[in-house]
Amino acid sequence: MPTLTGGTSGPEIEPECEVFFVATGTAANALALATLCRSYESVICHEFAHIETDECGAPEFFSDGSKLLLGRGPKGKLSAESVNTIVGKRSDVHFPRPRAVSLTQPTELGTLYAEDELSAIHATAETHCLRIHMDGARFANAVATLGAKPAEITWKQGVDVLCLGGSKNGLGIGEAIVFFNRDLAAGFDYRCKQAGQLISKMRFVAAPWLGALETGAWLRNAQHANAAAAYLDARLRTIQGVEVMFPRQANTVFVRLPEAVQQGLRRRNWQFYTFIGVGGVRLMCSWRTTTARIDALVKDIQAEM
Ligand SMILES: *Cc1c(COP(=O)(O)O)cnc(C)c1O
Repeated sequence: MPTLTGGTSGPEIEPECEVFFVATGTAANALALATLCRSYESVICHEFAHIETDECGAPEFFSDGSKLLLGRGPKGKLSAESVNTIVGKRSDVHFPRPRAVSLTQPTELGTLYAEDELSAIHATAETHCLRIHMDGARFANAVATLGAKPAEITWKQGVDVLCLGGSKNGLGIGEAIVFFNRDLAAGFDYRCKQAGQLISKMRFVAAPWLGALETGAWLRNAQHANAAAAYLDARLRTIQGVEVMFPRQANTVFVRLPEAVQQGLRRRNWQFYTFIGVGGVRLMCSWRTTTARIDALVKDIQAEM
């Protein structure tokens, strides 16, 4: 997968990676994390991390009980300080030993870890011998905004394994698990099979990835989604009484809307979640969101306000 490791200019040698495909992001995260930890070890993640709030305990299940330790940080981003605090708390045999850090890029609140924030986590992880997992279900959206080469925000920042999303970026189905640390991939094919993730017609999952990567569609789709969210964000900010909750950095816009307005929108058949992170209405834009659709939503919000 050359576009993933394709790094900076010059004769630098790129590491090879091992790639596996699974059906869902939940399977990708759970199986990857199970590989990073023994059952008595633990994973530090943000309290709003998808692995904690939206995967029905799959990481704990597939890792035979590795505990998730919940950290904090502003705007949905785990801070290096919080990681330090958790690791420093205990080192006795009664406590599940921290062995990995999990970062979501972009986060569940639609924000992005900047390169210096990744570096700070990387340094902390090195100090404490923690491996780094990245939940990149919407990783392409992060690349589209940051303008960084994928290498700069993954293995060069110490990421051992990246769960790279396809389903949310225009592919029919399938997520790629990319091991930059190839030693960790030993036996992973068995783990996939045991978990029912060895898809017999794997070519139908893998082939679209080739097309998406070789044509650049993976990045164009993400750029489109981000641009749509930027447009939505700008339109919402013009409506009196609508509060945009976080800086828009990828394809997500969170807004606070009066309860009656939410109900009115649902009656008009708009669908959205209100249980993510800190509440508020989460509006997602995708590779196929149109300006017309956004205009229609904005018009309905205005009518309900
Ligand atoms: C959607 C998503 C996933 C994976 O979800 P599945 O429904 O299991 O494919 C994982 N992490 C994040 C941050 C997501 O947004």
